[in-house]
Amino acid sequence: MAPGLLKTSSMLEIFSRIKTSQILLSFFTLAGVLAGCHRNALQGNAEGYNGGDLIGIALSAARARLVEGLKTAKTGETLAAACDFTRCTDPQSKFCGVLRNLSAGQVLSCRNFITAAIEPMLQLNRSGSETPFEFRFEPIKVGSRTVDAMTELGPQGAIIFLAEAVQRLAEEDLVALLFHEFGHKTLYGESYIEDDPALGEFTSGRDFLDTVASAFVALHERPSPVSNPRQLPTVATRHWYRSYDTVADAHFYTYQANEHTVAIANGYTDESNSSPFVLYAEAFDGALPVFRLFKASMKAHYYTTDSIEKDARVQAGWVLERVEGYVMAKPCSGAREIYTLQRMSNGLRLFTTSLNERNAVLYSFGNAWIADVSLGFTAP
Ligand SMILES: [Zn+2]
Repeated sequence: MAPGLLKTSSMLEIFSRIKTSQILLSFFTLAGVLAGCHRNALQGNAEGYNGGDLIGIALSAARARLVEGLKTAKTGETLAAACDFTRCTDPQSKFCGVLRNLSAGQVLSCRNFITAAIEPMLQLNRSGSETPFEFRFEPIKVGSRTVDAMTELGPQGAIIFLAEAVQRLAEEDLVALLFHEFGHKTLYGESYIEDDPALGEFTSGRDFLDTVASAFVALHERPSPVSNPRQLPTVATRHWYRSYDTVADAHFYTYQANEHTVAIANGYTDESNSSPFVLYAEAFDGALPVFRLFKASMKAHYYTTDSIEKDARVQAGWVLERVEGYVMAKPCSGAREIYTLQRMSNGLRLFTTSLNERNAVLYSFGNAWIADVSLGFTAP
């Protein structure tokens, strides 16, 4: 993104820029009319902070999800169900929950907005001329409110994110936040939506944009496999051994002790005791299988509980070796989360139930690893 594209009357000064592979992140001072409000000057400083790339990656991923959703909605197949609580793919989700008590008129306004916004939002995300994303570390104030993001009304100008919010929010929440912000940049009837004034049957423009954003995410959610289990499953568990192959730069997991022993004998480092944990040995109500895939050219394994990802990888040449075991899709009291990290260099995954290990890997190795979606939940 060329700096020239940031030309707005409100931009006073650019302090510095960081270029990542996919996104320009800039820190600047800005004052003027943003989303209809006057704001204090912004400033940020990236000195000594190595998390910038992670924020850029998270924002890029959310933008990709937004574009994917817009393209799907454009086909019209899902659009008829938009904003309708009874037609959510996952009625349990919080995004669908927002739609629960909408009036018929609100449903109609919501659907009309999403329908009209698809093309303008795709244009604002067209590669090469996309709306720039920026972030800052100091709280972003709009009037007396502290917000996670802001932008100016209309198609011009960047969207500015609070770095902490990007780190805190799950990807779906970030997609919803993006849709809200792009909503300010999209014409609704004859004008752009401001946050504070009431809008039709909605108490505020903010409420309206939060609703359409939730409806947009709900439109493309995959159904939740299960509801929250009330208690830990009673099926047998088995240890999941972990070793590390320095040659392939890959972690190897297996539930079979003899396979683990062979790996160690072949030079893999035994890491089983750094954060030992178990998988369930059998399926149960609310279980997800842990698929193990292998790619010969990488000499490495990949593990996922996402069957859509598993299928995509098989299409891309990975061999499905087996199911290593089962995990709970959702947490319950006493369950341990299996934290998942992704190695940036090769996309391979590291799993641990130790929050300390997760954080140590994430923050000690700079940009080598990023947090990934949890593999699932397992027995304590
Ligand atoms: Zn807003």
